[in-house]
Amino acid sequence: MEKVAIIAQTKEGQLSDASNQLISFLSTFSPKRILLLAIGEVKFSSLPSSLPVEVIQVSDGLWADSATIQPLMKLVDGFTVFGIKSIQVDNLLSLLAASSSQEMISGIQHITFSNGKFTITKSIFSGKASLALTTETASYFSLNRNFDFSNNEELKNQPIVPTSTTGPSTGSNATIISLKPITGAIPLPDAALVVGAGRGLKDPGNWAIVEDLAKALGAATACSKPVSDLNWRPHHEHVGQTGVKISPNLYIACGISGAIQHLAGVNGSRIVVVINNDPEAPFFKHADYGIVGDVNEILPRLTKKLQTH
Ligand SMILES: Cc1cc2nc3c(=O)[nH]c(=O)nc-3n(C[C@H](O)[C@H](O)[C@H](O)COP(=O)(O)OP(=O)(O)OC[C@H]3O[C@@H](n4cnc5c(N)ncnc54)[C@H](O)[C@@H]3O)c2cc1C
Repeated sequence: MEKVAIIAQTKEGQLSDASNQLISFLSTFSPKRILLLAIGEVKFSSLPSSLPVEVIQVSDGLWADSATIQPLMKLVDGFTVFGIKSIQVDNLLSLLAASSSQEMISGIQHITFSNGKFTITKSIFSGKASLALTTETASYFSLNRNFDFSNNEELKNQPIVPTSTTGPSTGSNATIISLKPITGAIPLPDAALVVGAGRGLKDPGNWAIVEDLAKALGAATACSKPVSDLNWRPHHEHVGQTGVKISPNLYIACGISGAIQHLAGVNGSRIVVVINNDPEAPFFKHADYGIVGDVNEILPRLTKKLQTH
């Protein structure tokens, strides 16, 4: 491993402890170059001073189009690329791997490298089991957030770069960085009426039509998981198997496909109205009322109708 790259997320200019540990860990392989792709701004004082790390700041956002991914691909060409699991890091790792037709391995709990081969233990079945494997071909590696550097032999005797943490101690490894009270007139789990929207809205700037409809109804707003993953909407609005479970009298789902994981959080709703421009969208099978149409057209019309009553 002559050249390693690390994709790391930053928070308020700082790298996470885990990212700093990853840099120290990878330096034990004595690579000729260590390239850090920092998502967001990074303060140079937060970097390990003892290691020669080249830093590239990558804008915080989406890299879905090839125009933004191409320059990054060129930068990491010939590098073995690592990251600590997060939505953004995994997103960028997998886009780079797919765009360059390279293999990516995620969920890594333990990794060693010798004679050109990686030996890996990775979690499978949502963490219920582990799989041991070796690879000579993969170039992209996503390490679990709970990757235990202290149990990885290569790290022994390596300095762990200290970084400051803020917030009260929770008595666990988790540290509260900041607390954000949930805002919004109607708490989602208690709402009798909910307007939910998904990726069909296309852009966070289009949410006014959802909010207007919710306001006209006196409803709370909700969203699908990808929408909160993309930071289009706050996490507390995410409904489904891995989000809030709701059981309102009326759920209006706008531009949401109706994946089983979404349905798991909303199937307690009394009446479900689905608005989708694809008549084949699976959600229609679970709807009491369906409107086949463009949300940009239907929602303002519904709002207007409600406002005049
Ligand atoms: C382990 C696991 C857990 C998950 N947990 C959740 C969860 O808790 N909640 C959740 O929501 N998802 C969850 N998911 C993700 C889920 O599988 C789906 O990927 C997700 O629900 C899709 O979101 P979406 O419907 O917003 O986006 P898409 O699937 O992209 O659907 C967008 C829909 O919008 C429609 N559309 C596009 N343009 C318009 C327009 N102009 N007007 C009207 N309609 C339009 C399209 O026809 C499409 O049906 C989970 C997935 C996994 C693997």
